[in-house]
Amino acid sequence: MTEHTPVIGANHIDGQWIPAASGATFDSVDPADPSRVVGTFPDSGADDVRAAVDALEKSAPEWAATPPERRARILEAAAAELESRAPQLVEEMVREEGKTRAEATMEVSRTPMNLRFYAAEAVRAGGSTYPATPGSMVYTVREPVGCVGAITPWNFPLNIPSRKLGPALAAGNTVLFKPSEITPLMGQRLVEALLAGGLPGGAIALVQGGGAAGAAVAADERVDAVTFTGSTDVGHAIHRQVGPQRRVQLEMGGKNPTVVLGDADIETAAATVVKGAFGLSGQACTGTSRLIVVDEIHDALVDAVLARVEKLVVGAGVDADVTVGPLASAAQLRKYREYVEIGVAEGAVLRTPRVDDERGGYFALPAVFTDATPDMRIVREEIFGPVLAVQRARDHAEALELANATRFGMSAAILTRDLQRAMEFASASQTGLVKINQPTTGMAMNAPFGGYKASSTQTFKEQAGASMMQFYQSEKTIYLTPAG
Ligand code: NAD
Repeated sequence: MTEHTPVIGANHIDGQWIPAASGATFDSVDPADPSRVVGTFPDSGADDVRAAVDALEKSAPEWAATPPERRARILEAAAAELESRAPQLVEEMVREEGKTRAEATMEVSRTPMNLRFYAAEAVRAGGSTYPATPGSMVYTVREPVGCVGAITPWNFPLNIPSRKLGPALAAGNTVLFKPSEITPLMGQRLVEALLAGGLPGGAIALVQGGGAAGAAVAADERVDAVTFTGSTDVGHAIHRQVGPQRRVQLEMGGKNPTVVLGDADIETAAATVVKGAFGLSGQACTGTSRLIVVDEIHDALVDAVLARVEKLVVGAGVDADVTVGPLASAAQLRKYREYVEIGVAEGAVLRTPRVDDERGGYFALPAVFTDATPDMRIVREEIFGPVLAVQRARDHAEALELANATRFGMSAAILTRDLQRAMEFASASQTGLVKINQPTTGMAMNAPFGGYKASSTQTFKEQAGASMMQFYQSEKTIYLTPAG
């Protein structure tokens, strides 16, 4: 993509790149300059999803019968293809999503690593044998579930889809992929890489569009399993649609606390909090949105956080000195502004400048509120933007109580030198992810990922671990007695 040449995108159905049946389109735009169109994509509806599932049904037997070694080689070749296109993908991600170059570079380099990880899963042993009557056998085999629907958000537009498409394809499923309408180009690039790696065109369908396309994916009874990452409200709507008969995996919103105890080093703690809160412009599901500090260091830590926030540079991700890119969409900017108003109206104290950026992009200044209390909406609701609510705690016990006082359960961090208190926190935290002396963000690719409470269905972990491949496989128990 040269800077000013918008991409003309397409759906990928039955091995063909085609427009939406209705001919409708939508644009993805550069959040640093929304007048600049990054690409035009099909605005798909139920007809397109139906056609995609029809085609996937035809291809499913052949792909399921493809030897695991071949599936592994395809994922490895797709990883190599992504690596060969890395500089272009970084530029496109910066333009389409608004990440800084450093953030985009990290994601673009990680996605091929994911695909290689799942390539290895394709050939890992799957079944078990069980004690049986002598001369007989009882054993299990793992089979593909069938057709996997993957509905994904925009904040990691390559990485999150890769950790769904990778294991789904490794297990021999066909995939119906519906990327976010904010980052359709990234979705298309991932499918292009898989096809370039040798994936048969019939094994994957790409359907671009918004919520209507996503809802059609979830509603189609022939989609055997739906894996979704996104907001809690949408996730719950999908859960209702999928119903009890089909498999579902939902990873959703968060309201992640970082607890800082009195023995923590103030400067290290401030750096950790600022990284967790304002990295990705606050648009990470594991981002720090609550800072819970014990009384004795509250004021010193707030001052250190504010000093670091002052040094953040908000601007277009293409500019080398920028550390906080624009928000991804006009809706994100509206939500950020609305919650800054709400915080002020609720009586929290805004400690950062309250100015609207007039440059025309979706830029948002990092906001830090102190005197935030558990009843406030800025403490209870996911904002998914650069807003940090600071809560004061009497001691470590109250800090833990405040940390858990949320319907969400994604990630939580504690910063302390006291290992015993840290371990107490780790076991009492009602979250799927706990970080000790690390930001709430930044997870390893080779460890299980997923939330508790309203952040997840908790059905299957993503990314790694024992239950990860189980989502994409059915297990059949076979009893065998050779005929005499
Ligand atoms: P979103 O829920 O608005 O959209 C996610 C996807 O769902 C998009 O592809 C969208 O088009 C689709 N969609 C929208 N309405 C739908 C409907 N009714 N039926 C089916 N599909 C529908 O979320 P978003 O704004 O793209 O992403 C931000 C959210 O994602 C935040 O809440 C964040 O916490 C969450 N998130 C969670 C994780 C995690 O692993 N837990 C990771 C990243 C982001």
